[in-house]
Amino acid sequence: MTSPHPLSVWAQNVSPSPTLEIDAKAKAMMAAGEDVCSFAAGEPDFDTPDFIKDAAIAALKAGKTKYAPTPGLEELRAAVAARYAAEYGYQVKASQVVISPGGKFSCFLGLQSVCNPGDEVLVPAPYWVSYPEMVKLCGARPVFVAAADRTGFKLTPAMVEQAVTPKTKAVIFNNPSNPTGVVYTRAEVEALLTVFLRHNLYILSDEMYEHLIYDGGTPTCVATLGPEAAARTLTASGFSKSYAMTGWRLGTLVARADIAKAAGELQAQMSSNATTFAQYGALAALREQDKARASLGAMKTAFDLRRRLMHAGLVKIPGLTCVLAGGAFYLFPNISRYGLPSVEFAARLLAEEKVATVPGFAFGAEGYLRLSYATSDERIVQGLERLARFCARLSG
Ligand SMILES: *Cc1c(COP(=O)(O)O)cnc(C)c1O
Repeated sequence: MTSPHPLSVWAQNVSPSPTLEIDAKAKAMMAAGEDVCSFAAGEPDFDTPDFIKDAAIAALKAGKTKYAPTPGLEELRAAVAARYAAEYGYQVKASQVVISPGGKFSCFLGLQSVCNPGDEVLVPAPYWVSYPEMVKLCGARPVFVAAADRTGFKLTPAMVEQAVTPKTKAVIFNNPSNPTGVVYTRAEVEALLTVFLRHNLYILSDEMYEHLIYDGGTPTCVATLGPEAAARTLTASGFSKSYAMTGWRLGTLVARADIAKAAGELQAQMSSNATTFAQYGALAALREQDKARASLGAMKTAFDLRRRLMHAGLVKIPGLTCVLAGGAFYLFPNISRYGLPSVEFAARLLAEEKVATVPGFAFGAEGYLRLSYATSDERIVQGLERLARFCARLSG
């Protein structure tokens, strides 16, 4: 017999998620009784609010345990459309909303709906780890556009102009950003949009952290910036970050009617509907607005205090610099002065001081480290003391 065929190019080319990997390693160390300060988490440390859990439990007990319509419960799609109208004045029909098993899958469905093999997709770096892999899984090619901390990690219209080719089909825009936490102003988004539209690009706008913006900043919903933007923007968001529902696996994609229809049909063949009773929890999150606002407000206040606590501690460390980012729950300090590759820096920091972080390399940004402040104040203080000791040792 000849040997079996090798695995597919999809299987061979996909990279494991480095963030999930490091988080798993830190969790395993903690389970083994080690005193780890983990800044590696990519999720809120808060629990899902009880009123959301109760709605899902009630749905489960009421027998909402069967298949639901593939693109989502009609009531939930309508509630998502109503939310966009209320928050941004973005008028969409329920038929333009797809409820997916997670915001990550919403992003993938969006790309699958508009990208062909051979297309190029602009991916601003530092990028969320899944974007390049998703682009490759569409047979398209990620083209990285790097923005360093000198420009506040922000993409500029000139950088986009330089990267566009006749093959460029789409751009992925993540605002607020994971991993940098940076928030673009509306004027900055408008300036970028002008270039995106000049080149007729689709925009996958990942607005997952839209509700986690500090210092009085406001989110910009790209699709609301005019009819050309609405026709070309695929808006991905969801419930994971705003309502501390990461394990529920519920995301949203909002787009032009024909794109939403196509995304729903792709989903029908790849996963079918997102978990039926979970969708009733999400429905409560959108309908019971006073409770939702209260829980989001409490979470945001805590994150903001921790953000400033962590930033103040980081910039006190000699040799380290850090942009005070205005959103999400991450800071992205520059560690290039210590002369170690970020992967080695993070590995040694975990081994020697039991502080878990994610190396910038994972996000296409060598010389940085991602620290999540979705953890307690005590942990932040303790972890920063350890980091300072580690940095002092490297400098000495
Ligand atoms: C967390 C996250 C998502 C989606 O998360 P899900 O858990 O799949 O809902 C999407 N984009 C970014 C940038 C994220 O950080």
